[in-house]
Amino acid sequence: MKKILITGGAGFIGSHVVRRFVTNYPEYQIFNLDALTYAGNLENIADIEHASNYTFIKGDIVETDFINDLFQKHQFDGVIHLAAESHVDRSITDPLAFVKTNVFGTMNLLNAAKMIWKDNFKNKRFYHVSTDEVYGSLGATGLFTETTPYDPNSPYSASKASSDHFVRAYGETYGLPYVITNCSNNYGPNHFPEKLIPLFINNIIQNKPLPVYGDGNYTRDWLFVIDHAIAIDLVFHQGKNHETYNIGGFNEWKNIDLVKLLCRKMDDKLGSVSGTSEKLITYVKDRPGHDLRYAIDASKINTELGWRPSVTFEEGLAKTIDWFLSNEDWLKNVTSGEYAKYYEKQY
Ligand code: NAD
Repeated sequence: MKKILITGGAGFIGSHVVRRFVTNYPEYQIFNLDALTYAGNLENIADIEHASNYTFIKGDIVETDFINDLFQKHQFDGVIHLAAESHVDRSITDPLAFVKTNVFGTMNLLNAAKMIWKDNFKNKRFYHVSTDEVYGSLGATGLFTETTPYDPNSPYSASKASSDHFVRAYGETYGLPYVITNCSNNYGPNHFPEKLIPLFINNIIQNKPLPVYGDGNYTRDWLFVIDHAIAIDLVFHQGKNHETYNIGGFNEWKNIDLVKLLCRKMDDKLGSVSGTSEKLITYVKDRPGHDLRYAIDASKINTELGWRPSVTFEEGLAKTIDWFLSNEDWLKNVTSGEYAKYYEKQY
């Protein structure tokens, strides 16, 4: 049996990865390690919590002794590392928290994997889930490829760039078998409502302003989160060691155009008069160090592993809106902090 450690599995993307691995690979033993910070929510994976091949472990990747003991005890064969501080705005107010979890925490996992695997790396794999933000900002044209030089601009992207470099260095220096993926912006069910799409869905439901940074011309590529989980599964099983793969949705949007599309979809869903939600758009002071444009060239994962997004943006957005509208309790719990009590009730 393969023992796989997934970190950050109570978060947005991690919850979809954990569900996919627990469901699709009954022969694996899946361990979900999560500190349950404000972004970690066990309600995200309540449906699989009693699966016989699943174990939840509450713990912090920053605690070196705890991590070493955990690896000694369970002798994991593979690590899929998603646990991170993930919100750019929070990284501007508290950069050190990002260094602790994203850099130091990743180092702890690398050292623990190296310790238990010694030099016997056969059938072992360390997978670091990273972001396209490490590449910095693009002008009006061009795409990030796997060889684009790193040029991070926010404390968040600098911390992810640093952890990517350490993962790669452990591969080069100690031979640790690793893969890294750099993915564009995700959206979908379980998305914490501090990020653009869920924040705006929630604000439209609540009839609150929709704060758009600067002139709204910032451009991002968007990928449905379940397609990211499918890509992670594929790279974990079929990606080549010591390689990086870019993952993206082939789906670039200016923020303001995306917000207007979301407003139209929400008006339709809520049965509001056309234009109601758009009136909530409010331009706010720009984020410092804001990257103008991210766009991903995902042709490597497409040609080498045959991955493409399975849903269009229209389909993914419709699924996302439906999910938030039919999970208003989840939204209420998350926004009121109630979800934190779920852990106490369950464990
Ligand atoms: P998230 O903030 O929703 O979830 C992060 C999870 O990590 C939470 O469950 C949290 O409790 C846990 N965590 C945080 N600090 C921890 C610590 N010290 N020890 C153990 N657990 C800890 O994040 P997300 O959006 O799901 O992102 C997951 C990963 O994917 C991150 O590494 C992020 O950099 C990367 N990523 C995210 C996106 C995106 O659009 N959200 C895009 C590309 C890459």
